[in-house]
Amino acid sequence: MTDLQIAKRITLKPISQIAEKLGIDPEKIEMYGTNKAKIPLSFIDHKKIEKSHLILVSAISPTPAGEGKTTISIGLSEALNKLNKKTTVVLREPSLGPVFGIKGGATGGGYSQVLPLEDINLHFTGDFSAIEKAHNLLSAVIDNNIQSKTKSLGLDPRTITWKRVIDMNDRALRRIIVGLGGTTSGIPRETGFDITAASEIMAILCIAKDLKDLKKRLGNIFIGYTFSKRPIFAKDLKVAGAMATLLKHALKPNLVQTIEGNPAIIHGGPFANIAQGTNSVIGTLMGMSYSEYTVTEAGFGFDLGAEKFFDIKCQSANISPKAVVLTTTIRALKYHGGADLKSLQTPNTEALRLGLPNLEKHLENIKQFNVTPIIAINKFKTDSKEEIQLIKDFSKIKNIRIAVANVWAKGGEGALKLAKHVIDVAESCTTKFTPMYDWEMPIEEKIERVAKKIYGAEHVDYNSTAKRQLRQIKELGLEQLPICIAKTQKSLSDNPKLLGRPKDFIITVREIEIAAGAGFLIPITGDIMRMPGLPETPASEGIDITDKGEISGLF
Ligand code: ADP
Ligand code: MG
Repeated sequence: MTDLQIAKRITLKPISQIAEKLGIDPEKIEMYGTNKAKIPLSFIDHKKIEKSHLILVSAISPTPAGEGKTTISIGLSEALNKLNKKTTVVLREPSLGPVFGIKGGATGGGYSQVLPLEDINLHFTGDFSAIEKAHNLLSAVIDNNIQSKTKSLGLDPRTITWKRVIDMNDRALRRIIVGLGGTTSGIPRETGFDITAASEIMAILCIAKDLKDLKKRLGNIFIGYTFSKRPIFAKDLKVAGAMATLLKHALKPNLVQTIEGNPAIIHGGPFANIAQGTNSVIGTLMGMSYSEYTVTEAGFGFDLGAEKFFDIKCQSANISPKAVVLTTTIRALKYHGGADLKSLQTPNTEALRLGLPNLEKHLENIKQFNVTPIIAINKFKTDSKEEIQLIKDFSKIKNIRIAVANVWAKGGEGALKLAKHVIDVAESCTTKFTPMYDWEMPIEEKIERVAKKIYGAEHVDYNSTAKRQLRQIKELGLEQLPICIAKTQKSLSDNPKLLGRPKDFIITVREIEIAAGAGFLIPITGDIMRMPGLPETPASEGIDITDKGEISGLF
């Protein structure tokens, strides 16, 4: 059965019942139909947050297919609920563009899904549209200011890094010229489109604590320089108020449900390379306000998503996970051990053994944050007994807790052992995590810490553009911002071809971007895709809707 077929067989509970289960007055939630609702921000309860156990689900370095963090997060949350721990899973909102590209949703899979699948993966509650509009409002205001005879700030168009966004995989928009058509149609300049999830507004919405913080951060967006080298921010264009107005509803987290009728909060979807890669702070705080356990996910492997989760999100929101569940798949370990992508379904204990150092490094990294790791083997049908045993033997030697999670096939039932480990670890955890660096450190030192201690690099190199930008950031007084390193997810290094646990490599910082609104700097170490394209045969070819409104072909 496909994910959509499984989803369609589930009778959804009215969302008011889910709110009630959480302890939220169903009259007070804002309904979007019968199965989706927004929770007003006033429901965040800081006293209760302190008592909630936050559990982070991360993964080893993934294969292109994804290793199942979302699926494990949902299944674990179902299992915790089965064990009578009131649990909410808090996740990112999927981006619309990729839905029509390569098949695969972001709402879990098999019997571990959040519902309604079609809505969540398509327009959902309109948050992405609001983000897109707020982003493009700033773009329009920038071009309007360049055009203005009386109000022009003298922006040098060649220094403007702010582009436009759309939630579609549309490679033809990557680089464009705007302002063609004569004197009434703007001043021609080169710019481009990113996908909405890559917008700095997305990162801002996901880090903001409330409307006031949102507005301040929107005002701090760095746009470029004037011809006389004066830096210009969004607040100089007096646009932050209007942008925040557009985001009024988008800032509220969305409540939906899992297959087993448990609460799920889905809010915000920033990238895990150029942004923090995890759902909104507000979504997490809302989950923690009403649950004993809050299970959440951070994008890609632990080196990328989870490092940012700790050093950016947890540091700014003052929260601390009680355990990290490391999603591990036999297929990814075989891939790291040198097996060909096409042969990953065939048992191969030798490749698996050779891939174990990747798992080992991620476990060491979790411990560097002073948090206890638990390995979750995300079970696939093709996994052999011998392969599973090999990872169990490895974990025994390393003295790490491990459980096979069969959540894709069985839902919560498949993760009871994992959930028991999580409860043991969380309930005996009395310490806060240790960050990788102090925000106040010099930028180079922050980058070096992450590159050497998390990635395992020997050394960090800066090319001339990055060196110039380092000086520029210091001049702007932004060096106390945390760093959000953009790197490939395929390798612990910045070279996607170096699998397993690479050693003796150098990380090269090519550029450092400023996301002053989101509140971080983005050292770029490779080619980062912000506007994906569609494949030769886009998934859109298989998607259809009947005359009665039944959708097919979506996952
Ligand atoms: P991540 O969050 O790490 O990117 P997902 O949970 O979204 O990964 O899973 C990626 C894809 O793999 C999804 O399409 C999901 O349905 C599928 N998947 C995950 N776990 C399993 C499994 N155990 N068996 C089969 N398919 C799986
Ligand atoms: Mg995911």
